[in-house]
Amino acid sequence: SNIKKSEFIKSSIKVAECPPDKLPEFALIGRSNVGKSSLINSLTNNAKLAKVSKEPGMTKLINHYLINDNWYLVDLPGYGFAKTASKASRDDWIRFTKDFFITRDNLVSVLLLVDSSLPPQQVDRECADWLAECEVPFCIVFTKIDNRKRDMPLNAANIRAFKQMMAEEWEALPRCFETSSKTGAGKSELLGYVASLREM
Ligand code: GDP
Repeated sequence: SNIKKSEFIKSSIKVAECPPDKLPEFALIGRSNVGKSSLINSLTNNAKLAKVSKEPGMTKLINHYLINDNWYLVDLPGYGFAKTASKASRDDWIRFTKDFFITRDNLVSVLLLVDSSLPPQQVDRECADWLAECEVPFCIVFTKIDNRKRDMPLNAANIRAFKQMMAEEWEALPRCFETSSKTGAGKSELLGYVASLREM
Protein backbone atom coordinates (compact mmCIF):
# COMPACT_ATOMS: atom_id res chain seq x y z
CA SER A 1 0.00 0.00 0.00
CA ASN A 2 3.03 2.29 -0.17
CA ILE A 3 2.80 5.31 -2.42
CA LYS A 4 5.34 5.18 -5.23
CA LYS A 5 4.09 7.98 -7.41
CA SER A 6 2.22 11.18 -6.63
CA GLU A 7 1.51 14.18 -8.78
CA PHE A 8 -0.51 17.36 -8.48
CA ILE A 9 -3.25 17.35 -11.10
CA LYS A 10 -5.24 20.55 -10.56
CA SER A 11 -6.83 23.07 -8.25
CA SER A 12 -10.55 23.58 -8.76
CA ILE A 13 -12.57 26.48 -7.45
CA LYS A 14 -15.80 24.57 -7.89
CA VAL A 15 -16.86 20.97 -7.93
CA ALA A 16 -17.82 21.14 -11.60
CA GLU A 17 -14.16 21.75 -12.45
CA CYS A 18 -12.86 18.62 -10.72
CA PRO A 19 -11.32 15.86 -12.89
CA PRO A 20 -14.09 14.10 -14.82
CA ASP A 21 -12.59 10.61 -14.68
CA LYS A 22 -13.97 8.11 -12.23
CA LEU A 23 -10.90 7.10 -10.25
CA PRO A 24 -11.55 6.43 -6.54
CA GLU A 25 -11.15 9.48 -4.33
CA PHE A 26 -10.17 9.91 -0.69
CA ALA A 27 -10.78 13.44 0.56
CA LEU A 28 -9.04 15.14 3.48
CA ILE A 29 -10.82 17.73 5.57
CA GLY A 30 -10.15 19.47 8.86
CA ARG A 31 -9.63 22.82 10.51
CA SER A 32 -7.01 25.03 8.95
CA ASN A 33 -3.64 24.34 10.51
CA VAL A 34 -4.64 20.79 11.50
CA GLY A 35 -1.65 19.46 9.53
CA LYS A 36 -3.40 18.52 6.28
CA SER A 37 -0.62 19.60 3.93
CA SER A 38 2.01 17.93 6.10
CA LEU A 39 0.03 14.69 6.09
CA ILE A 40 -0.32 14.74 2.30
CA ASN A 41 3.44 15.20 1.98
CA SER A 42 4.16 12.50 4.54
CA LEU A 43 1.79 9.92 3.06
CA THR A 44 3.21 10.45 -0.42
CA ASN A 45 6.88 10.74 0.65
CA ASN A 46 6.81 13.92 -1.37
CA ALA A 47 7.91 16.86 0.76
CA LYS A 48 6.91 19.43 -1.83
CA LEU A 49 3.56 18.09 -3.00
CA ALA A 50 1.29 20.23 -0.82
CA LYS A 51 2.40 23.56 0.48
CA VAL A 52 2.95 23.59 4.23
CA SER A 53 1.95 26.94 5.55
CA LYS A 54 2.42 28.41 8.97
CA GLU A 55 -0.45 30.83 8.50
CA PRO A 56 -4.01 29.50 8.39
CA GLY A 57 -5.05 29.66 4.75
CA MET A 58 -8.13 31.33 3.42
CA THR A 59 -8.20 29.97 -0.12
CA LYS A 60 -11.09 27.76 -1.02
CA LEU A 61 -9.69 25.27 -3.47
CA ILE A 62 -10.12 21.59 -4.17
CA ASN A 63 -6.73 20.09 -4.95
CA HIS A 64 -6.49 16.74 -6.72
CA TYR A 65 -3.36 14.63 -6.31
CA LEU A 66 -3.10 11.52 -8.47
CA ILE A 67 -1.57 8.60 -6.54
CA ASN A 68 0.15 5.62 -8.20
CA ASP A 69 -1.72 6.55 -11.40
CA ASN A 70 -4.93 5.01 -10.06
CA TRP A 71 -6.55 6.95 -7.22
CA TYR A 72 -6.88 10.51 -5.94
CA LEU A 73 -6.04 12.15 -2.68
CA VAL A 74 -8.26 15.23 -2.56
CA ASP A 75 -7.49 18.25 -0.42
CA LEU A 76 -10.72 20.04 0.49
CA PRO A 77 -10.82 23.56 1.98
CA GLY A 78 -10.27 23.81 5.72
CA TYR A 79 -12.98 25.03 8.05
CA GLY A 80 -13.00 27.25 11.12
CA PHE A 81 -10.07 29.22 9.76
CA ALA A 82 -10.64 32.41 11.69
CA LYS A 83 -11.72 33.11 15.23
CA THR A 84 -14.12 35.60 13.73
CA ALA A 85 -15.44 33.18 11.10
CA SER A 86 -18.90 34.42 10.33
CA LYS A 87 -22.01 32.36 9.94
CA ALA A 88 -21.97 33.31 6.26
CA SER A 89 -18.52 31.80 5.71
CA ARG A 90 -19.58 28.69 7.58
CA ASP A 91 -22.72 28.31 5.48
CA ASP A 92 -20.51 28.81 2.46
CA TRP A 93 -18.26 25.94 3.48
CA ILE A 94 -21.23 23.70 4.14
CA ARG A 95 -22.74 24.41 0.72
CA PHE A 96 -19.37 23.89 -0.94
CA THR A 97 -18.58 20.55 0.69
CA LYS A 98 -22.13 19.26 0.35
CA ASP A 99 -21.90 19.86 -3.38
CA PHE A 100 -18.68 17.84 -3.42
CA PHE A 101 -20.10 14.98 -1.33
CA ILE A 102 -23.24 14.70 -3.43
CA THR A 103 -21.64 15.09 -6.84
CA ARG A 104 -18.55 12.89 -6.54
CA ASP A 105 -19.84 9.32 -6.95
CA ASN A 106 -16.26 8.09 -6.87
CA LEU A 107 -15.67 9.46 -3.36
CA VAL A 108 -14.76 6.38 -1.31
CA SER A 109 -14.07 7.90 2.08
CA VAL A 110 -13.34 11.17 3.82
CA LEU A 111 -10.42 11.43 6.21
CA LEU A 112 -11.45 13.85 8.94
CA LEU A 113 -8.30 15.31 10.48
CA VAL A 114 -8.37 16.25 14.17
CA ASP A 115 -5.46 18.00 15.90
CA SER A 116 -4.43 15.85 18.88
CA SER A 117 -2.49 18.70 20.44
CA LEU A 118 -5.74 20.55 21.16
CA PRO A 119 -8.58 19.65 23.51
CA PRO A 120 -11.77 18.52 21.73
CA GLN A 121 -13.08 21.22 19.43
CA GLN A 122 -16.77 21.70 18.88
CA VAL A 123 -16.25 22.44 15.16
CA ASP A 124 -14.62 19.05 14.63
CA ARG A 125 -17.54 17.28 16.21
CA GLU A 126 -19.93 19.34 14.12
CA CYS A 127 -17.99 18.29 11.07
CA ALA A 128 -18.32 14.61 12.01
CA ASP A 129 -22.07 15.12 12.45
CA TRP A 130 -22.17 16.89 9.11
CA LEU A 131 -20.46 13.96 7.35
CA ALA A 132 -22.91 11.53 8.91
CA GLU A 133 -25.79 13.73 7.81
CA CYS A 134 -24.45 13.69 4.23
CA GLU A 135 -24.07 9.89 4.56
CA VAL A 136 -20.41 10.08 3.65
CA PRO A 137 -18.19 7.24 4.93
CA PHE A 138 -15.31 8.66 6.94
CA CYS A 139 -12.55 7.89 9.38
CA ILE A 140 -10.91 10.13 11.97
CA VAL A 141 -7.22 10.89 11.66
CA PHE A 142 -5.66 12.42 14.73
CA THR A 143 -2.65 14.51 13.70
CA LYS A 144 0.51 15.74 15.46
CA ILE A 145 0.67 12.95 18.04
CA ASP A 146 4.38 13.77 18.49
CA ASN A 147 3.56 17.35 19.47
CA ARG A 148 3.86 17.39 23.24
CA LYS A 149 4.09 20.60 25.15
CA ARG A 150 4.56 20.56 28.86
CA ASP A 151 1.91 23.15 29.58
CA MET A 152 -0.71 21.35 27.51
CA PRO A 153 -2.71 18.24 28.22
CA LEU A 154 -1.08 15.19 26.66
CA ASN A 155 -2.21 14.20 23.20
CA ALA A 156 -3.47 10.88 24.51
CA ALA A 157 -5.81 12.70 26.88
CA ASN A 158 -7.08 14.92 24.07
CA ILE A 159 -7.73 11.89 21.87
CA ARG A 160 -9.52 10.10 24.67
CA ALA A 161 -11.64 13.18 25.39
CA PHE A 162 -12.52 13.57 21.72
CA LYS A 163 -13.63 9.94 21.46
CA GLN A 164 -15.64 10.33 24.64
CA MET A 165 -17.35 13.40 23.26
CA MET A 166 -18.27 11.46 20.10
CA ALA A 167 -19.41 8.43 22.06
CA GLU A 168 -22.01 10.56 23.86
CA GLU A 169 -23.85 10.85 20.60
CA TRP A 170 -22.68 7.99 18.40
CA GLU A 171 -23.46 4.33 18.84
CA ALA A 172 -20.17 3.32 17.27
CA LEU A 173 -17.12 5.41 16.55
CA PRO A 174 -15.69 5.51 13.04
CA ARG A 175 -12.22 4.04 12.48
CA CYS A 176 -9.60 6.20 14.18
CA PHE A 177 -5.92 6.63 13.33
CA GLU A 178 -3.21 8.38 15.32
CA THR A 179 -0.60 9.98 13.11
CA SER A 180 2.40 12.23 13.03
CA SER A 181 3.84 13.70 9.88
CA LYS A 182 7.05 14.37 11.75
CA THR A 183 7.70 10.77 12.81
CA GLY A 184 5.60 8.88 10.25
CA ALA A 185 3.55 7.26 13.02
CA GLY A 186 0.25 5.81 11.83
CA LYS A 187 1.14 6.20 8.19
CA SER A 188 1.14 2.53 7.19
CA GLU A 189 -2.11 1.93 9.10
CA LEU A 190 -3.79 4.79 7.27
CA LEU A 191 -2.50 3.66 3.87
CA GLY A 192 -3.67 0.15 4.74
CA TYR A 193 -7.16 1.54 5.37
CA VAL A 194 -7.14 3.27 1.97
CA ALA A 195 -5.88 0.11 0.24
CA SER A 196 -8.51 -2.08 1.88
CA LEU A 197 -11.34 0.22 0.74
CA ARG A 198 -9.98 0.44 -2.78
CA GLU A 199 -10.06 -3.33 -3.10
CA MET A 200 -13.70 -3.62 -2.08
P1 GDP B 1 -2.80 22.69 7.12
O1 GDP B 1 -3.15 24.12 7.25
O2 GDP B 1 -3.88 21.82 7.70
O3 GDP B 1 -2.40 22.27 5.74
O4 GDP B 1 -1.56 22.42 8.09
P2 GDP B 1 0.01 22.35 7.77
O5 GDP B 1 0.38 21.00 7.23
O6 GDP B 1 0.40 23.54 6.97
O7 GDP B 1 0.60 22.41 9.25
C1 GDP B 1 0.25 23.44 10.15
C2 GDP B 1 1.31 23.55 11.23
O8 GDP B 1 1.35 22.37 12.02
C3 GDP B 1 2.72 23.72 10.66
O9 GDP B 1 3.44 24.61 11.50
C4 GDP B 1 3.30 22.31 10.73
O10 GDP B 1 4.71 22.30 10.86
C5 GDP B 1 2.62 21.76 11.98
N1 GDP B 1 2.48 20.29 11.88
C6 GDP B 1 1.87 19.61 10.90
N2 GDP B 1 1.93 18.28 11.12
C7 GDP B 1 2.62 18.11 12.27
C8 GDP B 1 3.02 16.95 13.03
O11 GDP B 1 2.77 15.79 12.68
N3 GDP B 1 3.70 17.19 14.19
C9 GDP B 1 3.98 18.44 14.62
N4 GDP B 1 4.67 18.57 15.76
N5 GDP B 1 3.63 19.55 13.93
C10 GDP B 1 2.97 19.40 12.77
